[in-house]
Amino acid sequence: MSLKKRGKYQYGDSQADIRDELLRYGKKNEHAAHHFADAICKCGGKLFELSLDDNEGAAVRTCVGCKTEHAIGDSEEFLEEAELEECACPCGGEAFEITIGVSLYEDSEDVRWLYLGCRCPKCGLTAVYGDWKNEFSGYKKLLKRV
Ligand SMILES: [Zn+2]
Ligand SMILES: [Zn+2]
Repeated sequence: MSLKKRGKYQYGDSQADIRDELLRYGKKNEHAAHHFADAICKCGGKLFELSLDDNEGAAVRTCVGCKTEHAIGDSEEFLEEAELEECACPCGGEAFEITIGVSLYEDSEDVRWLYLGCRCPKCGLTAVYGDWKNEFSGYKKLLKRV
């Protein structure tokens, strides 16, 4: 498990590598990611199509196996205003492994920033597809809704 840079992109060989990319990206953003969670559908599926709007801070994943849609984190509250765009990997892949990371306020369990990372299992490209200010009390609750 490691990230490799090729051209301007990072490539990973497992979902765990998404966390490294979220850490790397979070440091640049000055809100380090502290806690992570991997998206798993209730059917057990780990591959999703993803639509998001990172201005509104909303993302919806759709399981490629059972087609169940799920609003990630507290996205549901922002869906009405959101203009979701479908994500695609530069290789054309549209099914991703998804891991989110949260940055917390100091000495607190409250969230200040959310990172949404994906890995394309077709080519391995691993990247942050969205990040936004996310004020949520209690990060564990938020991570459960990945
Ligand atoms: Zn499913
Ligand atoms: Zn790809």
